[in-house]
Formats: sequence, structure tokens, C-alpha cells
Amino acid sequence: MVKGMNPTIFSYFCSRMNNRTMTHHKIRVRFAPSPTGPLHIGGVRTALYNYLFAKQQGGDFILRIEDTDSSRFVPGAEEYIQEAFDWLGLPFDESPLKGGNYGPYKQSQRREIYKQYVNALLDKGAAYIAFDTPEELEIQRAETANFQYDASTRDKMRNSLTLPAEETDSLIKSGTQYVIRIKIDPEQEIVVDDMIRGKVVINSSVLDDKVIYKSADELPTYHLANVVDDHLMEITHVIRGEEWLPSAPLHVWLYRSLGWEEDMPQFAHLPLLLKPEGNGKLSKRDGDRLGFPVFPLQWSDPKTGEVSSGYRESGYLPEAVINFLAFLGWNPGTEQEIFSLSELVQAFSFDRCSKSGAKFDVEKAKWYNHQYILEMSDTDLAKQFMPVLQEKGISASTAKVEKAVGLVKERVHFISELWDQSYFFFIAPTTYDEKTVNKRWKEETPGQMQQLTELLEGMDDFSAANQEKTVMDWIQQNQYHTGNVMNAFRLAIVGAGKGPHMFDITEVIGKEETLRRIQQAISTLP
Ligand code: GLU
Repeated sequence: MVKGMNPTIFSYFCSRMNNRTMTHHKIRVRFAPSPTGPLHIGGVRTALYNYLFAKQQGGDFILRIEDTDSSRFVPGAEEYIQEAFDWLGLPFDESPLKGGNYGPYKQSQRREIYKQYVNALLDKGAAYIAFDTPEELEIQRAETANFQYDASTRDKMRNSLTLPAEETDSLIKSGTQYVIRIKIDPEQEIVVDDMIRGKVVINSSVLDDKVIYKSADELPTYHLANVVDDHLMEITHVIRGEEWLPSAPLHVWLYRSLGWEEDMPQFAHLPLLLKPEGNGKLSKRDGDRLGFPVFPLQWSDPKTGEVSSGYRESGYLPEAVINFLAFLGWNPGTEQEIFSLSELVQAFSFDRCSKSGAKFDVEKAKWYNHQYILEMSDTDLAKQFMPVLQEKGISASTAKVEKAVGLVKERVHFISELWDQSYFFFIAPTTYDEKTVNKRWKEETPGQMQQLTELLEGMDDFSAANQEKTVMDWIQQNQYHTGNVMNAFRLAIVGAGKGPHMFDITEVIGKEETLRRIQQAISTLP
């Protein structure tokens, strides 16, 4: 048994070993955000890839909240994360809300667990206590260019390796603040096996003796908590953003020091999301500058009250956001661009993830939303459009709204745009577009419109097809100019030279309303 190691921990090590080697193969991945503000869309992409991989492998998708840095804690951020995934339709198998067999799922509730492992590392001699004050470290940095706390410098510093044991003990007893550093042996090979980047080998001498615990807040730092939790939660694959790649060698070292190297998860570091121009990381400022959200849901900063837009509030459909994000860093290797979530689960693979950053493309995001609006049934689309109509004080039958949205959905990227494309189905024009009037409302027009009124009045079957046949025959018999007549007709019905097929509009608004609008145009226009 390791000298000084707590017997419960030792037997725990042994039981885990057996567990892993004998029975444990289930794929388990985690999304591990820190609740420091709204979740960036890049984080959502990371979570999505975790989800796709886990579900493809019949595995579990876990949410772990990494809140050990209390100075960066932001109220509401955790709730925001949960709400965002509810909206997106990416359910967690285990989470702080849902619970599970590996909890607690919030690091702030796991303090005692980390302490055990920090102690185990100290007992093994794999970590040591350091008392250097910030000022002392500053002096070293000023004296030595590129100073780093490591094998080449640690014996000049004030730590449990250089001080007599009694002094270390008495310093701790007297309440002196200290940190615990991991002891990185120099000139060792560290291999990070990454599913996207392949094997990355680095020399341990480039690493510094990172702080893994601070006495001041009695908490481990990110690195230790992250590794301990991945191990205890039996995470098999660590899939995260490229910004964590530089931490991976240290994490491998921690696994090794804790005696868990055999059980180390497989890493996959995802490419960055880049600015639309491709130069650098996508930021909130890019979103503000170019008018697109970088957060899944709207967020109001609890301190400043500043509001940042979200995909949900901007009218994006969750399915479109998922499809769009899946393609930022992955492609199926075929022409297919529209994928449902379950198709993505089937098709996803790390082999087809790119190593280089993915440029954010707003137009593509809108295009996806358009595609998903087209895929929606008119019934569902009408349901979503109803509140907009209600807000405008319009009451219309469901059947009418369904027909109207069906006729204009081709033309919109967002549900909110449906009104501009369809208002004339619900309200008669009160003004007429001047340019169109000058161009289309001629001297002979009122007379022709009067004849048209009489023609339509006599019709029993007011279907678009029958109207079209009747009106076209009439135009031909009188040798009228089709364009002139039809454009004036449109001006009378719509108030402008736009909209879907003319007779589709009049079929939906009905005979009575059609005739009323023509009369109104005749009496209003010159
Ligand atoms: N807490 C880290 C973050 O906020 C987790 C990184 C990881 O997945 O290991 O992204």
C-alpha cells in the first residue's frame, strides 16, 4: 500500500481497477461548462458533438457544472445552461437537476472528494506544498526571463521540498497560506492521443508545476477537479474545445500520478469557431457587429443589465441551430446538408471532423432556418404565427392562416418575417404603393376593373384555377394587355406589386373581400 495513503482510498483504487477491466465498457461523455455567463454557441457545438457521439455508441451524456472558481460565478448561468439544452432538445442522462449514480454533478459540492486525492498525491510525493508569496514569485519573474516553477527552479523556492519538514508543518499550523503544486519530472515523454489530431507527443520539461489546490479557498483548481471527476464519473471520452488542448499533457500527467493511466479517457479537441472573416476566434463582438446571436438564448447580464440576443428569441428553430452547428467542424462527406438529429447521430464521426477552425457563416445559419421552415407543416407554422397575428389584433380562422403561411413560407427565413409577406391576406390596403400606381394604374384601368368585378361576381366556383381560367379568357376576348390588367388587379388587392400568385390570394380572401377591395381601389385611385 502507498505510504500514508488512506486505506479507504486504496481499496477504492483496487475495486475500480477490477470494475473497469472486467465490466465497464459503456461510453460516457460529459459536457463540463463553468457557469461564468451565458453559454457561447461554440460550447453548444461542443455539447452537441458529445451528444452525437454518445448516442451513436449507446452511451451516456452527462452535464457537470465546473464551479470551483467562485470569483467567476455568475448567478443564473447554470439555469441558463439547462434551459438552453431543454430548448435544443438535447437531454442529459445525468445532471445536477436529474441526478444519477455518479453525483454530485456540481464541483462545488465535491470539495471533500478532491481533498482526498490531493492528499494521495502529496503522500506519494507526486505533489508538494509551496509557500512562495505572489511578491516572491514576482521577483523571480523579474530576475529570470521566462521563469517557470518547475524541476529547474523549484529547489530555489520556498516549498516542502526545500524546507525542513518541521518548518513546513509549523507554517501550515500557524495558518500561512499555501498552494499545492503537481511535481512534473523533467525529460519524460507525455503522449496525448487525440481522436481528431492523432498522437501528440510532448516533453514534460516544457510543463510547469501547476497549482492543483489553494489553501485560501480550500478548493482544487480546474485541472485537478476536472481529471478527478472524469475518472470517478467513468468518463470514457473527453470531447472539448481546442482551447483545452494545451492543458491535455498536464491532465495526462495527473492521470499518471494518480495511478489511473490505464483508464485514461480518449481525448478529442474540437476545432475553434472562427470569425466570419476567418481571422481569430468568434466573439460576442462579431455577433453585435454583424447582427447575429452568439448565444443560444437571450441573456441579460445580472450586473450590467446588458441584454445579448439569443438564437431562440431571434426566431431560429432549434432543429436548424443543431443542423447548422453540426456542420461547423464536421461534414458527412456527401452532398447532403439537411440532417435530423437522429440522422446526425447515425452519421457523425471524428474521422470527418476538421483539425482547422470553422468559419462562422450567418447566411448559412439563415439558410438552414429557411429550410426547416419549409419542412414544417402549414399547421405547425400557422400555430407559431398565430401569436404574431394576435399581437396585431387580427383574428382569422386557422384554415385561412394555414393557407396564407403555406403560400408565403418560400419567402421567409424567420417566422417573424411571415407578417410582411402575408399581411394582405388579413387586412385590406389602406394606401397604395406610389411607384406601382404610377406605373400600373392607367386611364383605362378603372373601366377594366369594373368589368372584372362583374365577371368575378358571377362566378360560383371561386377556386384559384377557375378564376384564372375565367379571367384569362376574358382578357383574351377583349384583347387586353395581360400584364397591365393583372398588375392593376394586384395593386387593388395587395396595395403593392408583390405577393404570391394572384388567384391564390383571392381564393384565400374570398369573393366578397376581393370585390370590396377592387371597388375601394377604383374609388381611391385617380
Ligand atoms: N470547465 C471547462 C470549460 O468551461 C471544461 C473543459 C473540459 O471540458 O475539460 O470549458
